[in-house]
Amino acid sequence: MPRLWRIPTGGADSYLVLDDEITLIDTGTPGSGAGILETVRSLGRDVDDIRTILITHYHIDHVGGLAEVQRHVPAWTGVHVAEAAAIESHLPLPTPFKQPFLARIVDPYLEARDPGPARVDEELADGDELPGLGGIRIVHTPGHTPGSISLHFPELGAVVIGDAMQFRFGRLMLPNRLFTQDMDEAMGAIRKLSRVDFDTLCFSHYRPIRQDASKELRTFISTLLP
Ligand SMILES: [Zn+2]
Repeated sequence: MPRLWRIPTGGADSYLVLDDEITLIDTGTPGSGAGILETVRSLGRDVDDIRTILITHYHIDHVGGLAEVQRHVPAWTGVHVAEAAAIESHLPLPTPFKQPFLARIVDPYLEARDPGPARVDEELADGDELPGLGGIRIVHTPGHTPGSISLHFPELGAVVIGDAMQFRFGRLMLPNRLFTQDMDEAMGAIRKLSRVDFDTLCFSHYRPIRQDASKELRTFISTLLP
């Protein structure tokens, strides 16, 4: 039975799906690669077992360690088709800030830390099914960024949602407005996800919900205006 393992990094949490092979979800801020690989070793596993890397979206705190990890493991990397070009590009990653004034202040700092290009082997789209681990289904959940994806593990009864929602003070919330490109689209994505059944919901910046998560999500949806 595969299991999910959360790895805190300097940025967004990464997740390992541990089975005969390992799937790594997200890679933290630049410089996080060594810590992620060390965690894999501390679990008694070989880093060569990492065969798949999936990126929820192209923000620097999720994709920053990707090139570092790729240098050490034989994994292929999957990213939503809308974000592959930005990750492979030598140009800085797109700004995470919606408000131009915030972008003007913080982008120079982020550009100085830009991790540079990383390899994308597979461009993913909504509904794609990846083999192994009881199957991984790609759910396109845009809004936070255009190519944000959530990963549904039917056999685990789990969804990794990235930054498409917040879970603060024990409450589900819409994604952070400061960093979300299109809130209407983000709400549509959450409604779409509420049609999936799962017990566990894993976030990038908050502790997971471990029980009845899709029920909790549907309760949250009922509080939103139509
Ligand atoms: Zn983000």
